[in-house]
This record gives sequence, C-alpha cells and structure tokens, in this order.
Amino acid sequence: MRYKYTDYHLHTNWSIDIKDDGPSFEDYIQIAELNRINVCFLEHYELRYMDKQFSNPFSNENINNYLEELDILKETYDFILAGLEVDYYAEKEEELREFMDDYSKELDFIAGTVHEWVPFYPITTREKLVELLERKSMKDVITEYFLESQKMVESKIFKNICHIDTIFRYINENDIKPEKDCDTSNKKVLELGRLCIKNNISIEYNLSGLRFPIKRPFPSREVIRILQKEGAKFFIGSDSHSLEYFEEQIPKVKDAYHFIKL
Ligand SMILES: [Zn+2]
Ligand SMILES: [Zn+2]
Repeated sequence: MRYKYTDYHLHTNWSIDIKDDGPSFEDYIQIAELNRINVCFLEHYELRYMDKQFSNPFSNENINNYLEELDILKETYDFILAGLEVDYYAEKEEELREFMDDYSKELDFIAGTVHEWVPFYPITTREKLVELLERKSMKDVITEYFLESQKMVESKIFKNICHIDTIFRYINENDIKPEKDCDTSNKKVLELGRLCIKNNISIEYNLSGLRFPIKRPFPSREVIRILQKEGAKFFIGSDSHSLEYFEEQIPKVKDAYHFIKL
C-alpha cells in the first residue's frame, strides 16, 4: 500500500443500497489519491439478496466481474484493496464457508457483518427496524442481535468483523428511545469484543455513527479503549456511501489511527 492510512470501508454502486449512478471506484480513487489515503472497497455481499427480484449487482456470479474490474485498476493504483462486507446468517453457514473457500484468496479483505437475522428485516434500515419492533419486543431484538453476532464470531468464518454494536444505530436516547427493560450499556458489546479477542478476530472502528443521531462511532471510544488494553486488533472504516461523506471523513479516519495508535 502506498500511504500510511487506510479507510477499510467504502461502498460504491456495486453495493445494493447505492443507485446505479452512485459513486464508482474511480470517483473514490481520485479523492483518495489527492488526500493520500489507501482505500478498501467493502461492498455488501448478501447471499439472501442474490435472487433476480432484488437486482443485486453481485447476482449471477458477477463477483468475477467485480474482481476483474478491480484487478485492472490495481495495475495503475497501488493504494486500493478489493474487499467485501459479507452478511452472516446463522442458517447459511455452510454456504458462507463454501463462498469463503472459493473467494477468500481472490479478495484482499473480507469482513463479516450482522444486519439482519429475521429475513428481510435489516436492523440497519430504520423503517425495517420499526417494523421488526412491531413484531418483537425491543429487549428481544437487542438480545437476538448480540446472539447472532456471537454465533458469527464463534463460527470463525471471518477474520474481521464490522460495527459490533450497530444495533444501537437507531435504538438510542437520540432516536428510538430504549425501553426500560433494555440493556444498552457496554456490557454486551464488551463481551462480544472479548470474544473477538479470544478468536483472534479484528474489530472495526466504524465511524458511520457520526452521521446518525447517536453521533458516536461503533463501538464507542470508551469500548475501544477497554478492548485495546485487553489486546484487541482493529481496522478503521468510514462506511462511506457517498463521495461527499468520504471526503469529509478522511481527516477523521486519520485521527482514528492516532487514537488507536495503529
Ligand atoms: Zn454494515
Ligand atoms: Zn458497510
């Protein structure tokens, strides 16, 4: 890699939640070069959304085109990495393992993630989370999020894990208020972080919370500090879905390196 700093978490129009005319590799590359930062494209790879009806950029084994496009760009730019943010589903572990067998060598960086465990109710979409909360108690939703994340870590399918407490993206005092019986303390987050340490898994310091009412990274600085003392390994990601946001986050990514002393 050419530069000192790396943003490990960028989404282009290869991600299902970005429009076709959204940012491309080249768009990010230009900004990255100007600001002297390495970038890793970490597109959503969600086995549950591969069917035709979802018009997923990765359907029909398009991953091979993704890799090919990036291989060509890498010949010119030595500061880009080909990555994927792969959704973990407990009931699809076998498929996920097969996928990792086939592709982990082809990619520079793969991170596992929990966005949804009840099919088609991603808790990272506010609207879907609200619907889920009509079906389940908030307490159960929080408990289940951490259980699913625990299963992901223990499966050892992934060496890197994204935003370990993203369940609090919308459930927090500034947004959907936690109910009285809900534990929103650091306890479960720390337990999950410690499980990552035990399994030698890198934890993301995800800066995206700064664009939501919670206004803090995932996990919080306080959790990062505690886990760091206990030997956690980290990678830093802005989780950018637009060029404007990426540009704005670059100084924060660099600051985060100093905070973590990577
Ligand atoms: Zn994510
Ligand atoms: Zn992401």
